[in-house]
Amino acid sequence: MTRLAGILLAAALTLAAADKVTVIRAARLFDGKSDRIVSPAVVVVSGNRITAVGANAAAPAGAEILDLGDVTLLPGLMDAHTHLSYPFERDYRNEELGLLKKPVSERTLDAVDVVRRTLMAGFTTVRDLGSTDLIDVGLRNAIDAGKIPGPRMLVSVHALGSTGGHCDPFAGYAPGIFGRESGITDGVINSPDEARLAVRYNIDHGADVIKTCATGGVLSLTDDVDTPQLTQAELDALVAEAHELRRKTAAHAHGATGAKRAIRAGIDSIEHGSFLDDEALDMMKARGTYFVPTLMAAQGLKERISDGYVPPAIEAKARAAMAALDTTVRKAIARNVKIAVGTDAAVYPHGRNAGELVRLVELGMSPAAALRAATSVDADLLGVAARTGTLETGKLADIVACPGNPLDDIRQVEKIRFVMKDGVVFRRD
Ligand SMILES: [Zn+2]
Repeated sequence: MTRLAGILLAAALTLAAADKVTVIRAARLFDGKSDRIVSPAVVVVSGNRITAVGANAAAPAGAEILDLGDVTLLPGLMDAHTHLSYPFERDYRNEELGLLKKPVSERTLDAVDVVRRTLMAGFTTVRDLGSTDLIDVGLRNAIDAGKIPGPRMLVSVHALGSTGGHCDPFAGYAPGIFGRESGITDGVINSPDEARLAVRYNIDHGADVIKTCATGGVLSLTDDVDTPQLTQAELDALVAEAHELRRKTAAHAHGATGAKRAIRAGIDSIEHGSFLDDEALDMMKARGTYFVPTLMAAQGLKERISDGYVPPAIEAKARAAMAALDTTVRKAIARNVKIAVGTDAAVYPHGRNAGELVRLVELGMSPAAALRAATSVDADLLGVAARTGTLETGKLADIVACPGNPLDDIRQVEKIRFVMKDGVVFRRD
């Protein structure tokens, strides 16, 4: 962070800015829901709300003017799949050892830098899909209280999965090495009743959203990547309980069988989805289930494999999933399945979240659709569309800016140079 950014940040964190009026001017604006760019761009912000938007919006007398020049204003970007309490580790061994050797206090302090970096990359809201030791809850609360800079977080506490499955934190270790076996309080469930209990446990401890592991995964040593790991009855109970308690649900699912069980159960989004077949995509299209392909996870794995930092068993699973994923995403785009932006941040270096939009455009999505996927579509999936996700009057002032025109070159979103969240400026280069 530059010295100026540091000063701005200190000012931002101390200024309540309740009745302050700011007028942001820029060359262009993309509102997060249309297909077009508005030019020139004027956004009026009062306190933490947008009070006027458009080429001809009038500047109220006495307002502070921020003239950002040749940039495009965008709604604050969103990431529907992060792990901000996990550091990025290029070497798989450190990923495992970090959890075993670092105290919770050290891992929490490491995460303070991660949330700051995510916000500075233009991501003002994230859905964090799996943590340990309630680090995600602590981060969310500290950010909301203005104690540390970071994105607005919707957190999930533990991801819920079966014994020995992708989300069992004790899987692959000798029996009893942790002094007990994994259970509800680690997110491990093995019956419909345990699924309901674990949902209640997570919500009791602060979960905004419920994440489950419906199939095996890539970054786990004890399972196949595509096998189902929960029964239909377990997923039915989990989703029903979460929805009764007004929480949305997300399922990690690579294989089609587990994904279809989750879709039938009424899951709100399928994460990863590498091996989704035509039937699964058609079910998602018919039910409005969101697809969050996490292409940046594949990108991160590709880079780590080429650096020689991934064990052979995981490399084989990663190669199979990566080989299938691009085709699946192209099919989903062609079918008009709802695709939302989520990246699996922590599998690749934190702060590169916007690479997901670049990958989606490479696979056939239009730049405008990719920007909507990271703003208004994500806002719908996260259940925050009434508050944020578009540049419209009445919405929270979550506003970022990138150079140039991202509809001409989507890679501009990787160069964010202005970040306002909730009416507070956190970055201005
Ligand atoms: Zn994940």
